[in-house]
Amino acid sequence: MSAIIQAIRGMNDILPDQTELWQHLETTLKRVASSYGYQEIRFPIVEKTELFARSIGEVTDIVEKEMYTFNDRNGDSLSLRPEGTAVCVRAGIEHGLLYNQIQRLWYMGPMFRHERPQKGRYRQFQQLGVEAFGIASPEIDAEIILMTARLWRELGIDQQVVLHLNSLGSLAARAQYKIKLVEYFTQHHAALDEDSTRRLQTNPLRILDSKNPQMQALITAAPRLLEHLDAESQTHFDTLRKCLESAGLRYTLNPCLVRGLDYYNRTVFEWMTTETGAQNTVCAGGRYDGLVEQLGGAATPAVGFAVGLERIINLLATNNPIKVGQQPQAYFIMAGDLAKVQGLALIERLRNHLPQLILTVDCAGGNFKTQFKRADKSGATWALILGDQEISSHKIAVKYLREQKEQVLLSEAELIKFIEQQKV
Ligand code: ATP
Ligand code: MG
Repeated sequence: MSAIIQAIRGMNDILPDQTELWQHLETTLKRVASSYGYQEIRFPIVEKTELFARSIGEVTDIVEKEMYTFNDRNGDSLSLRPEGTAVCVRAGIEHGLLYNQIQRLWYMGPMFRHERPQKGRYRQFQQLGVEAFGIASPEIDAEIILMTARLWRELGIDQQVVLHLNSLGSLAARAQYKIKLVEYFTQHHAALDEDSTRRLQTNPLRILDSKNPQMQALITAAPRLLEHLDAESQTHFDTLRKCLESAGLRYTLNPCLVRGLDYYNRTVFEWMTTETGAQNTVCAGGRYDGLVEQLGGAATPAVGFAVGLERIINLLATNNPIKVGQQPQAYFIMAGDLAKVQGLALIERLRNHLPQLILTVDCAGGNFKTQFKRADKSGATWALILGDQEISSHKIAVKYLREQKEQVLLSEAELIKFIEQQKV
């Protein structure tokens, strides 16, 4: 026997017993995004490395150490996309979707980051991304956040997530703040862990995002970005908060929320789970007014978010055993040479009339007993039976598999009616 080839670490298969839950999740997300007037956009999985370096930032974890980067046969440096916003902006600029207009877009698909795999953290994972371009006012930030809240309600996980909100202010105000922050952490240099020492040089704001419990006291006492906002960002943030409050949405002001990507300004938010032992951010987003220009387009205000679908699936699977499982409703059994030849043709005619019917044909054969065993295991409501007797009488036998009811013998037309009446 040959050696077995296994999947790459951190890249998961989603097996048939899980795909229904995934489909349920994806359908719900798409439905809600469409209902807010957002349209789907699709783009490649591989892009030029430069796109991510220029947008996410050279000294972010993602670009520094998490990207799947390789040279293709032409020698171009390419990367598997680690996130969607940069790609969405690239596509938007390239196709003239962003210039002087409003676009509301969503996309869904795999992202790739070379991280240490653990529950809720994978090397290939799925995201839903939602982006709104061309609107500077805080009402659109509010719309985006209210949409996320609706997603959790529709999925029945709204009790398991809380919203954290912050404002990063303008780039200029942040630069001022950065100086104060560096001063503060330099004074407490001895208390910094290794990561934070490195970030003090490269990306000091990210120290605030440290997950190390030993750093928390120092971080809590650090100067607050929210107290250094420029006047316009302050007004923007106040209005956003009023919109959310008037819609009855509760949130926690989190002055340490900074996000791991460089392109954000003003509003940033994360939805965190209250579950322990899990990666706790299920959705993250914010405003990125500088990004379109940074990638070569005309200055365009923008705001968006990304949902990590595996982390939502974990929540759905642990606490809400939603029964989305749909069993085949009919199982077709055929025995005898004539039945085998005519059976599939009959079934095709049935399918023409009953496109909603889930019908599994037992193509594996064997005697009635073996086929009935498989019919039973399939979970189907009825077995449809075609044997020599049925062929000669131009009928199909219908046997109830889950109820104590008499077997019935029906013509093809009667069978169609029978199934229609069961509201398939
Ligand atoms: P984290 O702080 O958990 O590393 P992040 O700030 O790197 O998240 P984003 O780049 O904002 O995450 O991605 C948005 C969402 O995508 C996250 O909130 C999370 O739900 C999900 N996500 C990010 N990285 C991974 C991963 N490696 N595996 C699974 N989901 C992920
Ligand atoms: Mg990360």
